[in-house]
Amino acid sequence: MQKFLKYFLILLFITISVFSFPQLVYKNEGSSQSVGSVSNGTIINAYKLPYSGKNFSYFSPLSYYVLGRTYVHSRVYKTVINSYKKCETECSGIQFKLMECSNKKGGKMFPHQTHQNGLSIDFMTPLLKKGKPHRFYDHLGICRYLLNFDNSGHLNLNKKVSIDFETMAKHILLLDKEARKNGLRVKKVILKIELKDDLFKTKTGKLLKRRAIYFVKKLPEKINKLHDDHYHIDFGFIK
Ligand SMILES: [Zn+2]
Repeated sequence: MQKFLKYFLILLFITISVFSFPQLVYKNEGSSQSVGSVSNGTIINAYKLPYSGKNFSYFSPLSYYVLGRTYVHSRVYKTVINSYKKCETECSGIQFKLMECSNKKGGKMFPHQTHQNGLSIDFMTPLLKKGKPHRFYDHLGICRYLLNFDNSGHLNLNKKVSIDFETMAKHILLLDKEARKNGLRVKKVILKIELKDDLFKTKTGKLLKRRAIYFVKKLPEKINKLHDDHYHIDFGFIK
């Protein structure tokens, strides 16, 4: 039994190393090209987002290194990095979490229906407890996608924990501002329909609404339920 466990661990280590290697050695250079659409496409010469920065980090080592789901279009890369830089002053004290992006060459990425051409990113909803940033649930890795919130943004597991709608609104606004400096825009946001009014009634949420950033108006029940622990953003090119 001990021998079996030893071989199993060696095999696991080799598998993790082999799958992680492309992410460890990847270099960003030149510019990317998105082909097709977010739901049927690929990406040429994608950029790899960093695992962490001053005020942000990726949510899962398994998703980042082994599955390699951290690639985006070069312009999306600049947009994300520059908006986190702005967040250092505009959302001081907040640590953000990036969730799944695209594969290195794009294409289908189970269970997502989109995320195929480097223009989609999932961002983890920032949380509050007693009015202060709460990061306990940031460390669940892939299981973070399984959290459920009620229709006013309170965590079902612990009603004292709720979504920080103001920070989320600030982040989306900064993403759109930075996107526009890179020939992009926030084309679509997917957030659980019942949470949108909570977002739009915050100070920055009102600015978001005025800016007419498109939030999906109707979703199939299953998809709707999934978009409470993260907000999905599709970027689009400005024509
Ligand atoms: Zn998504």
